[in-house]
Amino acid sequence: MKIFCDLHIHIGSTSRGEAVKVTGAKNLTFGNIARECKERKGVQVVGIVDCASPVVLKDIDELIESEEMVELQDGGLFYRDEILILPGSEVETTEANGGNAHHLAFFPGVEGAKKFSKFLSRHVTNINFSTQRCRLPAQRVWEVVNSLDGILIPAHAFTPHKSVYGNCYPRLSQIFKDSALDKIPAIELGLSADTDLADRIAELSKFTFLSNSDAHSLTKIGREYNIMEIESLSYREVLMALQRDDGRRVTDNYGLDPKLGKYHRSFCPLCDRIATENPPVTVCRNCGNENMVIGVLDRITMIQDYPEPRHPGHRPPYHYQVPLEFVPGIGEKMYKILIETFGSEMGVLHNADEESLSRAVGRDLARLIIKAREGTIKLAPGGGGIYGKVVEEKRQRQLSLFQ
Ligand SMILES: [Zn+2]
Ligand SMILES: [Zn+2]
Repeated sequence: MKIFCDLHIHIGSTSRGEAVKVTGAKNLTFGNIARECKERKGVQVVGIVDCASPVVLKDIDELIESEEMVELQDGGLFYRDEILILPGSEVETTEANGGNAHHLAFFPGVEGAKKFSKFLSRHVTNINFSTQRCRLPAQRVWEVVNSLDGILIPAHAFTPHKSVYGNCYPRLSQIFKDSALDKIPAIELGLSADTDLADRIAELSKFTFLSNSDAHSLTKIGREYNIMEIESLSYREVLMALQRDDGRRVTDNYGLDPKLGKYHRSFCPLCDRIATENPPVTVCRNCGNENMVIGVLDRITMIQDYPEPRHPGHRPPYHYQVPLEFVPGIGEKMYKILIETFGSEMGVLHNADEESLSRAVGRDLARLIIKAREGTIKLAPGGGGIYGKVVEEKRQRQLSLFQ
């Protein structure tokens, strides 16, 4: 069966109101994420990456006690017989050269997450908070995760502040030993990269790519996601898909056009300017600043093996998609109408045809939604923490006046 899968979702706070991610939305609780995925998003497999937090583990225990959620024999948590949740933890590691990177660790069950939590609590300032910096290199963290039967996946692998390629070294082989590289099943591309960019680096050809949302609020769940072919919902099946085992695999990546990502191009904080010159840009054209926030496109151009992507045979297509929240004209009210009419955001972006969209939200908006899901909408690139933008809308509206 084919399922929608998003393996990078943060918790904002616990059911008792304790903060987990300070920048995360208050209503982003474990239970609300599961409900949102079931009722509005249509995402069936969810990775929640703050499960090493003891206050989150308490919520998990309560959901299991109340039988709203069960632990599966083949791993993973099954919520209301419908949503598979993989308990995970995003960790920040520190390399010898001072570089920091985020990684997603996933465990088959609550036991693994609890043991990891205990380990991590000795190396971070506050274990209750999300994505804490631990002063250990990634290889060491991988060893611990591996000993707990978990997997480690480098997160948003090219972003400038916290990632393996963006902030540590030009090659994964400078961070991990071969034993680890053999067992790391996947790399998360991050919002500012796609398959074409990542496949310019030779050592990445053997990895499965994940396009996940990194959601810090309920609406952002599923802004990037993967389609997986698996036989049933369990941790084991998802792992097989990442390892491309026995027919299980990621069949499609859906994500933002990398231009929309917050770190696509280099950015000069002094001039508040996103670079538009040919990559790589490392020095600001305006003021000569040599400390720009290096964009993902710029960084990849600096460290690439090939100027054009070389996709391995197993690489699935990457589909550009503009999430509904980026589409100009879709506010809270329109979003609600769309979800009520088509069941979920996936329903709107995948199944609804132009005619029924027109009936629900009018012809102009329906056209814009179709263009958004085809990836043919015009965009201005993001950088330095500022998202890219849809720029076509006004002209589009003007044009339609003359048609
Ligand atoms: Zn992160
Ligand atoms: Zn400047």
